Amino acid sequence: MAEKKTGKKFVQKPKLKSEKKYVKDKTKVKKKYQAPGKKQVEKKVSEKPDAKKFTKKIEKPEQKKVFSGKSEKSLCPVHGKCGGCQLLDMPYEKQLKQKQNQVSKLLKPYCSTTKIIGMEDPFHYRNKVHAVFGHRKDGTVISGTYQQGTHFIVPVDECLIEDKRADAIIRDIRGLLKSFKIKTYNEDTGYGLFRHVLIRTGHHSGQVMVVLVLGSPILPSKNNFVKALRKLHPEITTIILNVNNQKTSMILGEKETVLYGKGYIEDELCGHTFRISSKSFYQVNTVQTEKLYTKAIELAGLTGKERVIDAYCGIGTIGLIASDKAKEVISVELNPDAVKDAIVNAKRNGIKNVRFYQNDAGVFMRQMADEGESADVVFMDPPRSGSDEKFLSSVVTLKPKRIVYVSCDPTTLARDLKYLTKHGYKAVTAVPVDMFPATEHCETVCLLSRKDK
Ligand code: SAH
Repeated sequence: MAEKKTGKKFVQKPKLKSEKKYVKDKTKVKKKYQAPGKKQVEKKVSEKPDAKKFTKKIEKPEQKKVFSGKSEKSLCPVHGKCGGCQLLDMPYEKQLKQKQNQVSKLLKPYCSTTKIIGMEDPFHYRNKVHAVFGHRKDGTVISGTYQQGTHFIVPVDECLIEDKRADAIIRDIRGLLKSFKIKTYNEDTGYGLFRHVLIRTGHHSGQVMVVLVLGSPILPSKNNFVKALRKLHPEITTIILNVNNQKTSMILGEKETVLYGKGYIEDELCGHTFRISSKSFYQVNTVQTEKLYTKAIELAGLTGKERVIDAYCGIGTIGLIASDKAKEVISVELNPDAVKDAIVNAKRNGIKNVRFYQNDAGVFMRQMADEGESADVVFMDPPRSGSDEKFLSSVVTLKPKRIVYVSCDPTTLARDLKYLTKHGYKAVTAVPVDMFPATEHCETVCLLSRKDK
């Protein structure tokens, strides 16, 4: 296994300054930008969960009900009920065309849009799968998804965009709950135990993480449950127990214990190995992510001499993959778990010219700008809500020659392009990448360059 071969790297004395902070005191990490060589400022981190992926709008818990009807004409029996896959029944070529048109229309005032990069096989691409658990009036355990905007559970047995292994594990967990007499959590009353399952699969590595989310910390017959699950699914490489005792729309709670394995999975992207923890962001479509990153790095036009910023860096992927084409990379990310993964990932891949900062990207960039720093290229990959003026105005002050904006919402991309093109930048090209087939969402990578260059 890859990890065994390079296992030594994990125990080597850390080379990156930011790693040291973690080694010394796990509750502290660099937040403020300081030029290399200057004393790093440490601040206490208050953990904020990754709001991007785990937020769902909820209605009052007493409205929780179960849907069981079948939609006749669709490829999927719960189409129109679960709220995902709005374009599922549209031929894939037509889906691509629709997204292409949407992106070019929105970005028309700024730049031209190239042909969308689609998938060869647009099914079962999601490497992250979530199921909420509940029960019918007769006590039958169900699992599935919330109907959009509600806390109704739509039972799902298999989903056309989810990893098949993940769906099989979820189905078998339902059976185990029955045989172990474990009650599902009732959001109305707060009684019961079992709330959610989150599964992450490594597309290349084949590693599988199962996160069992409970309303309280004790899983009865824990060891036997884990043994039985592993017997049914020997492909599982780690099992985590996560406790979420809050009445919340977030799936994961703060507290976690590892029941089996390492507590994370690893996967490969563009020839690099990445560690992924349960709460860190990781692109859900690995096949398309490799195309997206390759395009983003190509557009950056790196020559090996640049000082690069990777903003909203998650577990460090873009900056680490680009690092051998740059002089140095400065990466910033808000989620402390993702930053921990990113630091390990730098080490794991033997990369020494990337530093990580845990901070709000806008605050961090403002600090850099205020200290008179500069950058040659900025990669920015914000959440769906896009960036903010603090970030964008700081980028303008830092004056990078090129900005590579990776966006998962063309509407907020267009909004941010409006700002940047008013403040010294021109948009050069936009490349849509279909990261989310069967859904209305579309990823775009957009290159901007300084007007005066
Ligand atoms: N570039 C990464 C992550 C992109 S997703 C990848 O391709 O995998 C967006 C990331 O922005 C998430 O990791 C999220 O935790 C982080 N984020 C959200 N708001 C942020 C903020 N205000 N400042 C810095 N990072 C933020």
